[in-house]
Amino acid sequence: MTLTDETSTIPAGGPTLEQVRRIVTELPGPRSAAILARKADAVASGVAHSMPVSVVAAGGGVVVDADGNSLIDLGSGIAVTSVGNAHPKVAAAVAAQAAQFTHTCFMVSPYESYVDVAEALNRLTPGDFAKKTALFNSGAEAVENAIKIARKHTGRQAVVAFDHGYHGRTNLTMALTAKAMPYKAGFGPFAPEIYRVPGSYPYRDGLTGAEAAKRAITLIEKQIGADSLAAVIIEPIQGEGGFIVPADGFLDAVVAWCRENGVVFIADEVQTGFARTGAMFASEIFRIEPDLITTAKGIAAGLPLAGVTGRAEIMDAAHAGGLGGTYGGNPIACAAALAAIDAFENDGLVERAQQIGTVLTERLRAIRENDPRLGDIRGHGAMIAVEFVDAETGAPDAALTGAVAKACVAEGVIILTCGTFGNVIRFLPPLSIGDDLLNEGIDVLAAALERA
Ligand SMILES: *Cc1c(COP(=O)(O)O)cnc(C)c1O
Repeated sequence: MTLTDETSTIPAGGPTLEQVRRIVTELPGPRSAAILARKADAVASGVAHSMPVSVVAAGGGVVVDADGNSLIDLGSGIAVTSVGNAHPKVAAAVAAQAAQFTHTCFMVSPYESYVDVAEALNRLTPGDFAKKTALFNSGAEAVENAIKIARKHTGRQAVVAFDHGYHGRTNLTMALTAKAMPYKAGFGPFAPEIYRVPGSYPYRDGLTGAEAAKRAITLIEKQIGADSLAAVIIEPIQGEGGFIVPADGFLDAVVAWCRENGVVFIADEVQTGFARTGAMFASEIFRIEPDLITTAKGIAAGLPLAGVTGRAEIMDAAHAGGLGGTYGGNPIACAAALAAIDAFENDGLVERAQQIGTVLTERLRAIRENDPRLGDIRGHGAMIAVEFVDAETGAPDAALTGAVAKACVAEGVIILTCGTFGNVIRFLPPLSIGDDLLNEGIDVLAAALERA
């Protein structure tokens, strides 16, 4: 199915989109180049982009640009379109809701779909206890609200975040985020009462989970004091920081300490949530039950929606009117979320994430057999990364990482880098991608590595 007239070359998005990598122009092609030139004139330069394209359609495992180039999608718009871009159930739910009503403000006139999303989150998040949810627009906003709730509940102010952590770009979440460039440099002053301690990075710190937890807890006790501490916030697998998987025993020791000391443990599952890691939530992998969980990204297939879900008695600490926002839990975003959650639960997407993880990990391990520059391969499910190092010294190799990513982009593979040291390539394919495209993406990466 195609649109008519001058747009007749534009294919419809969604799973019917032809699943091929096809490069018909240099990137950017002339149409994308013209739009990107207008972007340079019209859009603030702080809003950068990594792919030199202007998108017209996406679905399954591909993204198509204005010149007809079809790119393999190994990024899902940063772990957002996990169910697949323009998923038919999501597209239908969005269209139906848009024709009913587009907004009332849930704080003014409530509606059922918000309640449905809250019930789904209360049911799906780990922990067999009474839970409640509040909805917001972005991951950063969810994190801000989780901190507000934890402070109100405990009557304390300090918050602990971790080395390599990423929690967003608003003022409070910049303070929680570790990396200066590009997230914080020049944007201070930052919010007070935020403290940072080392977490667990087995590839680089060589500590067991218990040792890393002891190091963190000792610093917290000596430098902050449990009596002043409202919350500890951590990503169960750190995303922007480099897909760092903590050593076994780290997270449960931190959770146990929090519980003993009346500190709210917040798992930021904005990137890891919703089947991404081969579990509905990454907390399940580590067998932890966070007091509060923040969600966004994968929750609504690209519509802006975020949530804070957690123990009812903590969530209810905020006074009536203390939480909310004009758009939070917008009805169209809620409709999209309910369709996406249906797909996560009923279309085998948790299993599909596990299969994708197996394919990626086996292929990358095979490449590493003959290439010691692949220092570490890690992650869970469809959240896998490789850390590139100097084969002799083990030092992070950001130059190699950048060169490989650039080569993949030029050949039509959407690939994302991350890591505090800029030396990690991360794979976040949509769970709707086929094994053939996945393998082809890795073939392109392998060839780029050989040339680099
Ligand atoms: C992306 C991300 C955020 C911020 O989400 P936004 O929707 O960009 O505000 C927060 N925490 C984690 C772990 C993230 O990956």
